[in-house]
Amino acid sequence: MAEKKHGLGTTCVQSGYRPKNGEPREIPIYQSTTFKYDTSEDMGKLFDLEASGYFYTRLQNPTNDLVAAKLCELEGGTAAMLTSSGQAASFFSVFNVASCGDHVVSSSTIYGGTYNLFAVTIKRMGIDFTFVSPDCTEEELNAAFRPNTKAVFGETIANPALSVLDIEKFAKCAHAHGVPLIIDNTFATPVNCRPFEWGADIVVHSTTKYLDGHGSAVGGAIIDSGKFDWNAHADKFPGLTTPDESYHGVTYTERFGLAGAFITKATAQLMRDFGSIQSPQNAYYLNLGIESLHVRMKRHCENGQAVAEWLAKDPRVSWVRFPGLPGDPYYELAKKYLPNGSCGVVSFGVKGGRKAAEKFMANLKVAAIETHVADARTCCLHPASATHRQMNDDELRAAGVSPDLVRFSCGLEDAADLIADIDQALAAV
Ligand code: PLP
Repeated sequence: MAEKKHGLGTTCVQSGYRPKNGEPREIPIYQSTTFKYDTSEDMGKLFDLEASGYFYTRLQNPTNDLVAAKLCELEGGTAAMLTSSGQAASFFSVFNVASCGDHVVSSSTIYGGTYNLFAVTIKRMGIDFTFVSPDCTEEELNAAFRPNTKAVFGETIANPALSVLDIEKFAKCAHAHGVPLIIDNTFATPVNCRPFEWGADIVVHSTTKYLDGHGSAVGGAIIDSGKFDWNAHADKFPGLTTPDESYHGVTYTERFGLAGAFITKATAQLMRDFGSIQSPQNAYYLNLGIESLHVRMKRHCENGQAVAEWLAKDPRVSWVRFPGLPGDPYYELAKKYLPNGSCGVVSFGVKGGRKAAEKFMANLKVAAIETHVADARTCCLHPASATHRQMNDDELRAAGVSPDLVRFSCGLEDAADLIADIDQALAAV
């Protein structure tokens, strides 16, 4: 794990790009698809992975690598890469270790898009998934493994369930079965939780959310802790421990060690073939966002806490879920894994059900109706009338989404204004 040289705030602001004498202060955008070489031999060394450098932005770009290096330091990893979206990051993180005929264990409370990616799309590639409750016992978790299991996946704070994962429990079981734990750390961000410190091996992000923080750029990231010993379980991970014939016979663990094997394989093989690169321009926006991440997360959490506490006392509200709220089912886990705050997302039920929630949404003035979360501007969603509108009340309940559920993502505005907005919208119901 990389040595932690500075506080998290200094790392957010300054790490990754360190200009030398006379170089631009701001991170340069390398808006170039290709890179020039004096001889074919120079370029050949890059193709053979014998020298490091750039040849084509579909695989790697210097701007992206500078921002990935910042995220790597923030998470305490050894190597990192940016992807075009959070979906691409989740896909690569799994597909880098699992192939047709393999199996993955995943927490059931994950982002709906990730669930669909796993349960439908990757499944069509011949990789099977078993979904377990994040609250399962160790025995139940152990029972989900098969001889062909290649990874375990979960979210630090699940979207939209707001469950907090017991990362140590999941890491212990994953390691007992010789496989890595992959954690989607999107909602917590490395400011509030560093999953590697609790035993996770790979971290993924939808950088579209708090890391960018301004709703400007879709993106993703993968960070490797460098701690998982692929060689100790070489039979499970031939893609990392035996020659890659599609890449000049390179054996990733041999050539790049545990610190670099996972990300080099994902870059040289998956990025080459799937081309899910983040544009350098988006990486630039992402870097701007990360520069204020430590300041923004504090405010998002304070606003989430204030809104959740206010809602919990209001008789027009049937229930409230927020990991920082005493009495929340995940309050104790949040105290352990998220001692400085969880996130700004609060979910609650409007008394009166689907129709009342719809009326509440229609009367909001400060909060905007969006499918997005984790933005500087407060955004709000009523799944029953938007993302899940094709379902009737019974189907909704079966999907774990009650008809009265409102997801409220607190932005950076004044908490008093958010509360006043909710108050007047509830009064109009
Ligand atoms: N992971 C989580 C927790 C998310 O909330 C999302 C999107 O909402 C994703 C992954 C997918 O990210 P993207 O939309 O950047 O592809």
